[in-house]
Amino acid sequence: MDVREKHITVLGAARSGIAAARMLRERGALVFVSDMAAAGEKAAEIKILEQAGIEYEFGRHSGRVFQSDAIILSPGIPYASHVVQTAARSNIAVYSEIEAASWFNRSPLIGVTGSNGKTTTTSLIGEMLRQSDPAAIVAGNIGSAFSDHVERSAPEHWAVVELSSFQLETIDAFKPDVAVVLNFSPNHLNRYSSYEAYQEAKWRITLNLTDKELIVYNADDDPLCRRVEQHGARQAGFSLKKESDAFYRDGALFLRGSKLIDTADMALNGLHNYMNALAAALAATEAGVSREDIVRVLKTFSGLEHRLEKVRELDGVLYVNDSKATTLESLSWALQSFDKPVVLIAGGQDKGSTFTRINNLIREHVKALVLIGMAAEKMAASWQGLAPVTRAGTMAEAVKTAREQASAGDVVLLSPACASFDMFKDYEQRGRLFKQIVNGL
Ligand code: ADP
Repeated sequence: MDVREKHITVLGAARSGIAAARMLRERGALVFVSDMAAAGEKAAEIKILEQAGIEYEFGRHSGRVFQSDAIILSPGIPYASHVVQTAARSNIAVYSEIEAASWFNRSPLIGVTGSNGKTTTTSLIGEMLRQSDPAAIVAGNIGSAFSDHVERSAPEHWAVVELSSFQLETIDAFKPDVAVVLNFSPNHLNRYSSYEAYQEAKWRITLNLTDKELIVYNADDDPLCRRVEQHGARQAGFSLKKESDAFYRDGALFLRGSKLIDTADMALNGLHNYMNALAAALAATEAGVSREDIVRVLKTFSGLEHRLEKVRELDGVLYVNDSKATTLESLSWALQSFDKPVVLIAGGQDKGSTFTRINNLIREHVKALVLIGMAAEKMAASWQGLAPVTRAGTMAEAVKTAREQASAGDVVLLSPACASFDMFKDYEQRGRLFKQIVNGL
């Protein structure tokens, strides 16, 4: 793609927008960055833009946006927003940062998408690739924007990129060599007209795949299987329930017909992580990673912060931080990861979940509920009678109450099933505060 002398506007000056702007500028485009945030909030970004000689505006989207040959849309700005709709009506092409990066990428590519487990799986694949190639590229939410890496991309170095539905909505030519689709479950429904539309956005990862590329998919997800069946790409399924290209059975993971590892030897816990490991193993195999290297990573990779992270044991009670569990789906997997009674701290900003969907799991696993945030009311009503409920106004109060409810052999689990924005800056802040309070007990 030749972008020289093309007028390209980047909408949104967060991490991936800035990265795309710099990349395009280096490739000779006439780049303009436009963001509604006040200039005062973006001092660091403005410094970077000025150093790179990139023009910008803050606090508004002016008419200049609509004089572009193309727009690069940051994932934080909805496609349905006024500015994007106006541009689309003027026939200005709108692309995501991932699409733009792919124009210049020379590395063979693994893309990872799904509703849950993207970051964990991307990290696992990254570690596997790096066993034999320290220069393998890992990009997306976990690390840095893909645009920041294309300069050093090369045919001999694989890249793995985590892809959100927002990034995939506006791809055009983007074509990974391996597309990993982990699962579909309701999420971000505030940004999509329907669950169908959300699935459709994720499925776009396969848009340009031919019979040369591979789809790695969750064979336990029926809607996903139906889509895969109709696609002409090569296919490799993973399953917790049945024999597949990679599968879990009787305490072990199997890959391409033979045993890979006993789950007792894995550093990660939880059935959902076995799925992530199976997906990662299939993708890494396609990229030429040896079984030995895959096993080495599975023995040592113990997971990421805020995802079923063990904080400490106190008086025989295990405290676990799963602050990243912002959906009901994640909470349900978290509950299934423990065979001990759970004192659950949940709640926050509701994403429109039907909490009654997991009533059986609450009944089976939860000994007491400590509810926080705006969703507390709705959760209490949904789970009424399944376990004793206490409300807490702050995280400190929640931890104190949970501690009182727990006895030796129990787990105190923070797995909110909600966004954090009603009480915290983000899920990281929520998780760190939880850990700090727990460590101070
Ligand atoms: P994502 O990047 O897709 O948000 P993460 O790897 O950051 O996924 O995990 C987010 C949350 O989802 C964590 O709470 C984790 O325990 C849970 N989780 C991880 N993998 C899966 C999976 N395959 N299915 C369901 N939940 C998962």
